[in-house]
Amino acid sequence: MKTIDQFNFKNKKALIRVDFNVPLDENFEITDTSRIDATIPTIKKVLKDGGSVILMSHLGRPKSGPEDKFSLKHLLKYLSSALKLEVQFANDCIGEEAKQKAVNLKNGEVLLLENLRFYKEETAGDEDFSKKLASLADAYINDAFGTAHRAHASTAIIAKYFPENKMFGYIMNDEISNINKVMVDPWRPFTTILGGAKVSGKVEVITNLLDKVDNLIIGGGMMFTFIKALGGNIGNSLVEESLFALAVDTINFAKDENVNLYLPTDAVIADGFSNDAKIAVSSSYDIPDGWMGLDIGPETVKKYISIIEDSTTILWNGPMGVFEMSNFENGTREIALAVAKATKKGAYSLIGGGDSVAAINKYNLKNKVSYISTGGGAMLEYIEGKILPGIQAIEE
Ligand code: AMP
Repeated sequence: MKTIDQFNFKNKKALIRVDFNVPLDENFEITDTSRIDATIPTIKKVLKDGGSVILMSHLGRPKSGPEDKFSLKHLLKYLSSALKLEVQFANDCIGEEAKQKAVNLKNGEVLLLENLRFYKEETAGDEDFSKKLASLADAYINDAFGTAHRAHASTAIIAKYFPENKMFGYIMNDEISNINKVMVDPWRPFTTILGGAKVSGKVEVITNLLDKVDNLIIGGGMMFTFIKALGGNIGNSLVEESLFALAVDTINFAKDENVNLYLPTDAVIADGFSNDAKIAVSSSYDIPDGWMGLDIGPETVKKYISIIEDSTTILWNGPMGVFEMSNFENGTREIALAVAKATKKGAYSLIGGGDSVAAINKYNLKNKVSYISTGGGAMLEYIEGKILPGIQAIEE
């Protein structure tokens, strides 16, 4: 892997693709700065070498052309304070202003370009647009893991204009090496915990993991597609009937591969999708009509905890239940605590996907797991075994 540690940026301008797609409130204040904070070490490395930095990112989903609410200028104040220097801003990511500001940029200085997605050429992966961006700098660093699964102009196409001077920043490097810890020769036993609402979207993940894991633990809404496919009564629980055949194939494939595939034996059920609904515990294979399963039950929690605590590699994606509602958060919280406990005993744990990361944060376990992936979609595609354009563009 080519990383920035193998490069000296003295007198060089580095164009860094970052993921500054942060949430803003109605006053354009950043409500979660972690994506910006994560990029600081990469930026500082270039500055410390005696180079200058040009930052480019997308923010939100502008429809066509510039929109004030998606302007990266809203990030300037925070970025300047985080870097302890005055960051410059170009009101356009290409064109005369950007060019002039890039040319005039001195060693030790930082320039932030306006939102890349104000140009449809960005997501289209346009060559000419990529070339214009590339002309601003001497070296290209990709540090935006969250968009590495997209072949956009700034994430992939641009790399060809830096045949000798393209590399991964620290975030990319960390993400790839951490995911490889579970994908390449993991410590055993290796347990994957999958939850979330649906099976669809995770089918390839399951298929690609089945020849790697020792245990596959299933929870969340997705469990009911498996349970119904096996002939269980699931009442009004979430289900994807079109995936029954695939669910059965998965169960059989797991048997062939000697993988222990665990489905919940009991569930917390409710007579409505609400925290105020009446609740009960039932067998997950015998849920009455009019009731729906919204969390894994206590017997399942106990079983899953013991498997997790005996594991030395753990990959977790997706909550065990509707953890946003207090009556259905027990399974997710207990699983999160078990992952933390196993980590304390020496296991390696990787958490990915928006909702499992939210759960880890909710239970204050951020520093008690080995690694939290910042790119949910990109991580899932990597685990599916897909080649990510943003990674390939640097490696080839
Ligand atoms: P995903 O985006 O597929 O990872 O799904 C995350 C969402 O799944 C969360 O918002 C959970 O509330 C939801 N979820 C988890 N378990 C269930 C369930 N048993 N029924 C309905 N939704 C669920």
